[in-house]
Amino acid sequence: MPDAVTTRVLILGGGFAGLEVAQNLEKIFRQRDDVEITLVNENNYLIFTSMLAEVVSSSIEAKNIVIPLRECLRKAGFKELIADSIDLGNKTVSCHRPDNSENFTLGYDYLVLAMGSITGFHGVEGAEAYAFPLKNLADAMELRSHVIDMFEMADLEGDHDVRRRLLTFTVVGGGYTGIEVAAELNDYVGASRRFYKNVRSDEVKVVVIDPGDRIMHEMSEGLAEYGTALLKKRGMEFRLNTRISRVTQGSVETADGGVIETHTPIWAAGTSPQPVIAALPCADKKGRIEVNDYMEVPGFPGVWALGDCAVIPDPHTGKPYPPTAQHATREGKRTAYNVAASINGKEGDRRPFIYKTQGMLAPLGHRSAVAEIKGLKFSGFFAWALWRCIYLGKLPGWDRKIRVAIDWFLDIFLPKDIVQLKFLMRVRQSEAADKR
Ligand SMILES: Cc1cc2nc3c(=O)[nH]c(=O)nc-3n(C[C@H](O)[C@H](O)[C@H](O)COP(=O)(O)OP(=O)(O)OC[C@H]3O[C@@H](n4cnc5c(N)ncnc54)[C@H](O)[C@@H]3O)c2cc1C
Repeated sequence: MPDAVTTRVLILGGGFAGLEVAQNLEKIFRQRDDVEITLVNENNYLIFTSMLAEVVSSSIEAKNIVIPLRECLRKAGFKELIADSIDLGNKTVSCHRPDNSENFTLGYDYLVLAMGSITGFHGVEGAEAYAFPLKNLADAMELRSHVIDMFEMADLEGDHDVRRRLLTFTVVGGGYTGIEVAAELNDYVGASRRFYKNVRSDEVKVVVIDPGDRIMHEMSEGLAEYGTALLKKRGMEFRLNTRISRVTQGSVETADGGVIETHTPIWAAGTSPQPVIAALPCADKKGRIEVNDYMEVPGFPGVWALGDCAVIPDPHTGKPYPPTAQHATREGKRTAYNVAASINGKEGDRRPFIYKTQGMLAPLGHRSAVAEIKGLKFSGFFAWALWRCIYLGKLPGWDRKIRVAIDWFLDIFLPKDIVQLKFLMRVRQSEAADKR
């Protein structure tokens, strides 16, 4: 620690929430050498998750939706490390390098927990081993490769039933993320089919399964109905009021005794807490951290939590704020100012986090979407154009915005990319074998 530094702020997690905290803190303390800000993340980039589904469908090049964290920081330091455990008593965090080559212990005076969540398989047998999560870049690229592999296998297959099983793609979870993925996939498989002479159009199908009685429960009923009707018209199938009981290598089994033969169950059915967070003495029964209106962890002075790993009370609804990037970034800014107030010994300057959700947008493929913004509802092409404008605006960095805009432009004229990157699949297959 350099001599001048008297206060160390450690931020764990460089996603939407953590990066926003770091960027705002460095703005506040840009003239102060006594405050050291360190951001720790397992990768040296932030993933713009809202565009992950478009990586699966080859509409966007994968590297264009990740933003190097070092490029986003000026004063704050960055460390590419994985946090293993947090000692709140001794104010230290044990970490290791992603290649396991070295361990580190980081000390702090102020700790910000922004580690997000992991895919939640909710104890469904076989789901962790066989289902495809969609949480990070590797998931998206691997799923894309797997989908192409299914086409390659089907093209060699003489049996119609086997081809159908290979070309049935099942999305578990009909929330906006699941629908976004399903719709993009439906476009992708529809466009890719023409390269495979032995594949018939009636053998390719995207199925969405959800335990609720409708899709996109985050949005109003009318928009969900519009989305369902539109996607059905494009050949997608919906199994509503249906729970998954088991996933195997070649099927998804439902609680009502049904079996969907598929080699591609895609898991968009919720999240689980980060194990490091769940192990903390301040975590609740579900493994998340309940904080007060200021995002402080009660009983642990100097510790804050926000984003998907925290439960933050919404005074408007009495319920916690939803786990979205939209909320995480706003929470990040407020947390930074509250941390700064504490560092400056001005507790009275802290402000509670009060935010009204701006709206929700969900792309439905084929240049259509649904959007609900400040009570106004839009659907079809206009909603799609709105989605693209808003999300392009939110994508950090001009270089990334230009690259994504070019990808979108080329996607209108060029065929879908069906190059299969086999090495990604080998990693997954060996991981799945280890779990069995
Ligand atoms: C496919 C998909 C689509 C989505 N679309 C939208 C959308 O359109 N709009 C929207 O508002 N929200 C969307 N979301 C939700 C949104 O991505 C999350 O709510 C948001 O990322 C939460 O921000 P966060 O900072 O809390 O967590 P994250 O962004 O997940 O960041 C957590 C960070 O912590 C790091 N980390 C975790 N554990 C460790 C560890 N042990 N050591 C070091 N680093 C660690 C992770 O690598 C990650 O970088 C989507 C999510 C997904 C998966």
